[in-house]
Parts: sequence; structure tokens; C-alpha cells
Amino acid sequence: MTSPRVIVIGGGAAGFFAAIACAEANPVAHVVLYEATAHPLAKVRVSGGGRCNVTHACPDPRELVKRYPRGGRELTGPFNRFGPRDTIAWFAARGVELKTENDGRMFPVTDNSETIVDCLRLAADKAGVKVFTSMGVRKAAKTDEGKFQVEFTDGSVGEFDRMLLATGGNKSSVGSIIAGEFGHTIEAPVPSLFTFHIDDARIRGLEGLSVLDATTSVDGSRLRERGPLLVTHWGMSGPAILKLSAWGARELAERSYKFTLGVSWVGERTPAQVQATLVAARAANLKKKITTWNPFALPSRLWERLAVAAGIGPDTVWTSVSNAALEAFAAQLAAGEFAVEGKSLNKEEFVTCGGVRLREVDFKTMESRLCPRLHFAGELLDIDGVTGGFNFQAAWTTGWLAGRAMAGVT
Ligand SMILES: Cc1cc2nc3c(=O)[nH]c(=O)nc-3n(C[C@H](O)[C@H](O)[C@H](O)COP(=O)(O)OP(=O)(O)OC[C@H]3O[C@@H](n4cnc5c(N)ncnc54)[C@H](O)[C@@H]3O)c2cc1C
Repeated sequence: MTSPRVIVIGGGAAGFFAAIACAEANPVAHVVLYEATAHPLAKVRVSGGGRCNVTHACPDPRELVKRYPRGGRELTGPFNRFGPRDTIAWFAARGVELKTENDGRMFPVTDNSETIVDCLRLAADKAGVKVFTSMGVRKAAKTDEGKFQVEFTDGSVGEFDRMLLATGGNKSSVGSIIAGEFGHTIEAPVPSLFTFHIDDARIRGLEGLSVLDATTSVDGSRLRERGPLLVTHWGMSGPAILKLSAWGARELAERSYKFTLGVSWVGERTPAQVQATLVAARAANLKKKITTWNPFALPSRLWERLAVAAGIGPDTVWTSVSNAALEAFAAQLAAGEFAVEGKSLNKEEFVTCGGVRLREVDFKTMESRLCPRLHFAGELLDIDGVTGGFNFQAAWTTGWLAGRAMAGVT
């Protein structure tokens, strides 16, 4: 085995995974990892609300790739080589057990992201990776001999046979600049996974209220999602909104985050189906107030707001509601329209779409197609997933492939 000098730039999930994979696969390789800040794995630490949603219980790569608005096609092969099952086994082999929640998200059984941080740091240490913190990379160039000459933030310089850029989602960072200098195209960055700003009497003051099965859509586009929806202080969040934000990241940015959001609070039911249910409810609940009983098991405060929005007063009894009012109510329930005025950060998980153009990278080795022995991993690439552990899975997978390739074992 040869003993290449390998530099990993960026001490996040992808950088650590790559460095460990490289050092474990080739024990005689010299693997160094440089992290600009004093805190490597900072995003892992804060991820998943401090619990770290490590991956998603979705073993079939063909299903898994459907969760990536950008990068799904390219990740099919990589997920066949290192997918969620491999991630689970990788952590288990190092003493970390993961558990699955009802929605498929996987967390360490400790419910503490520190478990993942400690595991990665220990694995890097055991494999012989030399980790440097508070030491960033400023510049990189290729020498006539084909080596990478790297300049660090303290002015020192080193030479390496292979270089991995894993500098994360800040696409204006040095990592992207270096990738650009080596000829790579950087797709424009825009946020993904954000919540919507909506100021509307129907949901004002209802923060914390959630509906399990909502359908959301964006006017004038094909964007449409289904899932739980959460009312927040500023508007709306939850998977039905976050998935829309991820798939619509570019389109919604172009519209300056101002558009009409369609909301069905009753899943996929059409207004006509909902109206039929309301008519039957009227026949069965003649003397009851409309606000005291609802056939869709919606939270009663929301039900009342939607009734009021349809022109039905809270004290109205079912029997006195006209057909026209029931039609308006059905429209509120199944085809509500809300003006979105902007976006907010989703504190649980957010990513940036954009980054190194994917067709310029060989997804067997994560090596540049433009500059031999330059590799990429993680969010620096134009890859992003919806919420649920998919972004870390992309970081583990691309990191692992890059690490093995740099070790000389593909
Ligand atoms: C609040 C929050 C919660 C999240 N929770 C989840 C979750 O639960 N599950 C999930 O799947 N995803 C989650 N994500 C997304 C996930 O964290 C990222 O997709 C993932 O961390 C990307 O890993 P990375 O290694 O590519 O980049 P990063 O984690 O961003 O790491 C890149 C590192 O490179 C360093 N760096 C940058 N430039 C240089 C330089 N010039 N020299 C040296 N070092 C440099 C940075 O300081 C950073 O430490 C969350 C994101 C956020 C913001």
C-alpha cells in the first residue's frame, strides 16, 4: 500500500467521516484534517434540536433518493454502496446504537448529539487522523508535480497528494472559492428548509397547534406536499411546509418568498367531498353548535376559526347553516389560501442548496472530473435533502466514498 499525504479541509460530518474512512482503509496514509474554527462538528452538536437526526430508516436507495430535491439522481449509486443500513452498522460497530422514531427519523438512543460527536472524534483519533482546529485553509494550488500546495491561516504551507474539500453549506466560503479556482462551477446558493411568514386571522394566536394530515401547494406551480403542519408564532412550519420549501427552494427565492399558499387541513379530500361530509354532519347534528362537534377531528380552535372565516358565527347550530355557507366552509377546509410574506429560519434543521455542480464530480470516488485527486463531500456539493436525517446521510455517504478513494481502495 502507498502512503499518500491526504488533507481534509473542514471538520464537519462529511470531513470527519472521510478522514476516518481514509485512515481506516489505508493505515499507512498520512491523513490530516483542518478545521477553521475552535469547534469541529459544531453542526452535528446542534443538529436535530441537540439530539442529532443521524439518518432515516429508509434502506431502499430508490426510495431514499426521492427525498433529495437536488442530488437524488447522482446519489443512487453511492447509496447502494453506503446507505442508511451501513450508517447504522458503522455507528453500532463503534458502540453507538440508533433508534427509529414513528416518522422514520433515527437518533442515538441517548437522545444526545454529543454521543455522535464523541464517537466521530474517538474514531478519528483511533484511526490516526491528525485533527487541527482553529486553523483554516486560505488558498490551494497545484504544483507542477501534481501535488496540492495548501496555505493555512497562520501563513504556513503544506504539500499533499490528495485534497478533500468538505467546507459545508456556506457557498461563499473559501472552499467554494478554491473549487472555483480549480475550474468548478458553483451553482448559486439559496436557503432550503425554511418556514413561511403568514399573518392571517385564521391562525393568529394559534401557535403550537398542529394538524397531522395537511396538503400544501404553491399557486402557479406544481409544488405540492402532504404531511403534518404546525402553526408557529410567525406563520406555518412542519413537514408539509418544510418539504415545500426544499423542493421549491429556487422557485420561491425567485418569487422573493411572496406567494399564495394553498392549504387543505383535511389531507387529499376535495372541497366537494368535504362539503358532502358537512351536509351529512348537518343532518346528524341538528341542534348542536357547529363549533362543538367536527367530523374531521381537527383542533377545535382551528375548526372555529375556519367556520368564522366562512361566515359561520361560533354560536350557530348545525341546522341553521345554509348550503352556501357549508360550501364556503368546505373551501376553507380543503382549499384555503394564505398570503406568504417571507420566510424564517427553521431552527431544527436548515441547509443551503447550490454548490459544486454535480456533473463535474465522479460519484464513484467523489473526485473532481476537472482536477485529478481533488475530492468533494457533504453540503459543499449541490446536494440537499428534505428534513429527516437525509442531509447527514448524504454527508456520511459522500464522505465515506471520498475517504476510501483517497485511501486508494475504491
Ligand atoms: C441547526 C441545524 C440542525 C441540523 N440538523 C440536522 C439533522 O438533525 N439531521 C440532518 O440530516 N441534517 C441536519 N442539518 C444539516 C446538516 O447539519 C448538514 O447538512 C451537515 O452538517 C453538512 O455537513 P458538512 O460536513 O458538509 O458541513 P458542515 O457541517 O458545515 O462542516 C463544514 C466545516 O468546514 C469548516 N470550514 C469552512 N471553511 C473552512 C476552511 N477554509 N478551512 C477549514 N475549515 C473550514 C467549517 O467551520 C465547518 O466546521 C442541520 C443543520 C442545521 C444548521
